[in-house]
Amino acid sequence: MKLVFIGPPGIGKGTYAKMLNQRYGIPHISTGDIFREEIAKGTELGLKVKQYVEKGLLVPDEVVIEVVKKVLQSPMCSKGFILDGFPRTLRQAEELDKIVKIDVAFLFEAPVEVIVERVSGRLVCPKCGAIYNISWKPPKTPGICDVCGTPLIRRKDDEPEVVRERYKIYKQTFAPVIEYYRGKGVLIEIDAARDATLVVADVERILIEKGLIVKT
Ligand code: AMP
Repeated sequence: MKLVFIGPPGIGKGTYAKMLNQRYGIPHISTGDIFREEIAKGTELGLKVKQYVEKGLLVPDEVVIEVVKKVLQSPMCSKGFILDGFPRTLRQAEELDKIVKIDVAFLFEAPVEVIVERVSGRLVCPKCGAIYNISWKPPKTPGICDVCGTPLIRRKDDEPEVVRERYKIYKQTFAPVIEYYRGKGVLIEIDAARDATLVVADVERILIEKGLIVKT
């Protein structure tokens, strides 16, 4: 099953993908996570993308496409994947099409106030990647990861001014990507201004209807 998750930064794509990954074992490929990991490790790729990621700007298409190509061609993705954060530009969507055929592109939508609230309270674990929210999913001990006990951090690109910049970029760049998938008849819109369990239940229902997963 080859899926693309589209939506503004902070809407919860990573959370939905992780929930589906836990239930069905579909690999969750987040280009943002890949870049953050590479930056943390100080690799050549990390150094190349750091300046863009920390300012909330798009990494150049050639760099992102190269990274995604490599991941999708690895054995891990032989049975399918959820792409989260890619494609973000029309060129990326066209290049992706040359590698694989996407079954469904889910478009997650919610009013901007909902996104701002979600993102401003988000804390992540730099070690295991667990995601929390100080308003609706706080860690048991404030500031500490429930899973591995590591101090939680706020991602640099979750800072309010960076969030605003990323939202602006999303609006500017995503319209052609959305129209691209709509034109191909694979776009499905999902109301994401609801609890994550309801959002994921909708996604699962659609995937079952399409015969892409079997009800568990
Ligand atoms: P995300 O976690 O998906 O919001 O991504 C964090 C940051 O990584 C973005 O603000 C960009 O700087 C970079 N990034 C991730 N995916 C892409 C992509 N498909 N194209 C360009 N830049 C990306």
